[in-house]
Amino acid sequence: MATTAETQTHVEDSRDTFKQFLVSKGLRVTNQRMAIFDAAYGMEDHFTAEDLLEYSRKLDDSVSRATVYRSLPILTESGMIREIDVGHDNKYYRSTRQAQTFQAQVICEDCGKIFEVDAPFMEWYGKTVCDKLNMQPHSQRLQVSAVCRSKSPDGVCMHAAAK
Ligand SMILES: [Zn+2]
Repeated sequence: MATTAETQTHVEDSRDTFKQFLVSKGLRVTNQRMAIFDAAYGMEDHFTAEDLLEYSRKLDDSVSRATVYRSLPILTESGMIREIDVGHDNKYYRSTRQAQTFQAQVICEDCGKIFEVDAPFMEWYGKTVCDKLNMQPHSQRLQVSAVCRSKSPDGVCMHAAAK
């Protein structure tokens, strides 16, 4: 496990990368945009646009909903966050700060919880099948919908019960 100091350095590097990305796109580095970045990197788990708005406002109460919604595609394009579409009404996002290897998602159909699991072989698999077609992989994802094997008598799964 990385120490807190190492994690902090990593976040600082990502902050700098994001600033450089904004500048490269001709966008201003504003306090609001950086508050949104800090909020995205402060959340351990998956978040929705509304979660991001709520957390960003705790850091800087001048952050508007419109700014959050405009910043999400910028954060995604910069590679700072990933968009995760699990087929729900809401889109989910997650910072890329912990993800060095390809991540697959296992989604609990009972409680909706999204588990991220390392799946390094997926990158190899995507590359191998594309090579056979003389193509270059652009993006890929693996999502597994699952149900819990152990549930309480009233049908509540273990993750939901643990909340
Ligand atoms: Zn569950």
